[in-house]
Amino acid sequence: MPEGHTIHRAARRHAELLAGHEVHTESPQGRFADGAAALDGHQLLQVDAHGKHLFYRFDDDLLLHVHLGLFGRFNVYTADPPEPRGALRLRMQAGDATVDLRGPTACELMDADDEARLLARLGPDPLRGDADPERAWQRIHKSTRPIGALVMDQSVMAGVGNVYRAEALHVQRIHPEREGRSLTRAEFDALWATITTMLGDGVRAGRIITVTAEDAGKPRSRLKRGERTYVYKQSACRSCGGAVSVWDMAGRRAWACTACQR
Ligand SMILES: [Zn+2]
Repeated sequence: MPEGHTIHRAARRHAELLAGHEVHTESPQGRFADGAAALDGHQLLQVDAHGKHLFYRFDDDLLLHVHLGLFGRFNVYTADPPEPRGALRLRMQAGDATVDLRGPTACELMDADDEARLLARLGPDPLRGDADPERAWQRIHKSTRPIGALVMDQSVMAGVGNVYRAEALHVQRIHPEREGRSLTRAEFDALWATITTMLGDGVRAGRIITVTAEDAGKPRSRLKRGERTYVYKQSACRSCGGAVSVWDMAGRRAWACTACQR
């Protein structure tokens, strides 16, 4: 599943290409035919991301909500898109630009009440300027659930996936199985700051690189796949060389260094 940085990048890119234009929308597959017909020809004003959710705001208060889920993906073309084929849920076009959406968990029109209900279920997104970390702290510091589960719970904090979970907890030397309530406020604040920085780097770079140039001993742009993380999919910790343990946590694999994350 894409993590929040991918979704924020998509929001920026799609806004660059389509916002300010009257957008032609269609659902070649047919599963979003009514929605696409309602949006067709309306001007796209803005694209917002919150965690893993995308909101396309059109004129006349029309709002399109998209969640990619595990299998959804976008394809973007800046000229000559291919003929629609297969399970193409939504095609949006303006000028030479085309955004295709396939296989999303959600692709639906929403009204303001639907949106408010959805946002009320989501925790703060560290990539948003209006994020209030206090809301995440209020949930975490009372919880007996492991912090590794809490940071990936989208109702606690929105946008963190499996890679950033492993890496941010590692950088802060916090073991993923520690109970949320065992974190000090200072630990939480540092963790929030690390997650914010990592996600922001991901938005800029378009990929996940958590290892600093200092730790890597070379520029981050030269890191190969497999060199970009400290513990995620590593057998030895890239901070201390200690053994990395991997186990199942709420259905997803978790990684931590046995030496530097107690
Ligand atoms: Zn280590």
